[in-house]
Amino acid sequence: MIYRTVTFLAIALLLLLQNGCGTSPESGRLHIVVSISPFAYFAERIGGEHVDVSVMVPPGGNPHSYEPTPRQMSALSGASLFVKAGSGVEFELDWMPRILSLNPELRICDASEGVPLIPMHQEDAQAHEDSASGQTHQHGRYDPHYWLSPDNAVLITRNIEKALGSIDPSHRPLYAANAATLVAELQALRHDIHEQLAPVRNRNFLVFHPAWGYYADAFGLKQIAAEEEGKTMTPLQLQRVIEKARDADIRVVFVSPQFGKVQAETIAGDIGGTTGTVDPLARDYIDNLRKATDAFTGAMQ
Ligand SMILES: [Zn+2]
Repeated sequence: MIYRTVTFLAIALLLLLQNGCGTSPESGRLHIVVSISPFAYFAERIGGEHVDVSVMVPPGGNPHSYEPTPRQMSALSGASLFVKAGSGVEFELDWMPRILSLNPELRICDASEGVPLIPMHQEDAQAHEDSASGQTHQHGRYDPHYWLSPDNAVLITRNIEKALGSIDPSHRPLYAANAATLVAELQALRHDIHEQLAPVRNRNFLVFHPAWGYYADAFGLKQIAAEEEGKTMTPLQLQRVIEKARDADIRVVFVSPQFGKVQAETIAGDIGGTTGTVDPLARDYIDNLRKATDAFTGAMQ
């Protein structure tokens, strides 16, 4: 907390020596800041050559615990739009007030506007109540990982299109055309994933970090998640997940690149299986969802 306050004061002083404006003078482009990588893909596809996009949580960074660097915070003074997840990601809950106090002119696009957020799964709530720690659930009320459903990606696209059009009305028709192209690709993506998963009979998959609930719901799959948001699992929790995985005839434990895999390997060893990787935060959204579907399909056969 003290570190954060000192950082904050340092940045505030730094900003007194600069004067921020929406476009970078050299390029004439709008500076868009997004909290997570997949949003950078959407913003670039829609904004094209009229935007420069930077990402707050870097590749491999964990949005549940990330803290921005002073350089990132000071770069926000020249930004004209911030695209936030808006679904309870801890990084945003902790930092949005500071970001706004540094740049009160910054326009905020809530990428989750209109998205039906799913409450945390019942069984997770149960597991939480069972835990003796007495700590509150880190994720809050909703599962924050909504971008992993292609239908929700369409809503994100619309939200970013609307925000870009309102800060830069002269290019609104171009943003609308780019968004329409992207929406068509997202609809094709949903169709292809649906087709690819159609013959899969055992529709359960096991992920270490619970990021794939919206994806599972979109395609009639069941996500079994091991951990609760970055906390080390207790031996009892590990044992329960191993039993669930055995009951569901699961052989692969999927890990995210952002999280350690020691406990995932323990589970894989106990069920006589292996670990695989799926990334909830890769920048190239469409390509990444195709890769994840290949991985899930391979594991669920
Ligand atoms: Zn997460």
